[in-house]
Amino acid sequence: MLIIGPPGSGKGTQAEKISERLGVVAISTGDIFRANVKGETPLGVEAKKYMDAGDFVPDSVTNKMVRDRLGEDDVDKGFLLDGYPRTTAQVDYLEGILADTGDKLDVVLQLTADDEELVVRLLGRAKDTGRSDDNEHVIRHRLNLYHDQTEAVVAKYSERGVLTKVDGIGGIDEVTDRVMAAIKQAQGS
Ligand code: AMP
Repeated sequence: MLIIGPPGSGKGTQAEKISERLGVVAISTGDIFRANVKGETPLGVEAKKYMDAGDFVPDSVTNKMVRDRLGEDDVDKGFLLDGYPRTTAQVDYLEGILADTGDKLDVVLQLTADDEELVVRLLGRAKDTGRSDDNEHVIRHRLNLYHDQTEAVVAKYSERGVLTKVDGIGGIDEVTDRVMAAIKQAQGS
């Protein structure tokens, strides 16, 4: 499964809920990058420059990281990718990985939310978490990148008939209920 949504749409939170309910591992590229930044690994040092500016980490770094992660044993029962792919080039790369592993995407879930609501949410999160990419200038840049690049990813999956959209505005449990119902429906169809 994939979960796609603009920054602040709650995709990380919902990915954890789906992971618990379905017993599949949730893999967040943003979390892997943040863990590497914290551990000051070479990957983290490279990624931090881009993350702080709200830019995408280059594909040369991101794609290999995802390929390595999807080669680990815990993805055997299925997996949920959160935050990847974000560009159509990444969609093509993922296609190649899945062809190699013999896996197929069952569901691509898009969480939707209005930009102004997202800015308010993210500025709130900045106070709580101190994430270095949660200030208004960087937030607006990340939202623009989502519209410019990631919506084309959503369009691709929509053409393939695997896309399910879920309204991401509401309480966490309310959105989880919508998400689980949408997954059930998508799997039944
Ligand atoms: P996230 O936690 O998903 O919002 O990701 C935080 C940051 O990590 C993003 O703003 C990017 O700088 C970087 N990042 C995460 N996933 C990707 C990806 N698929 N491609 C490029 N950069 C990414």
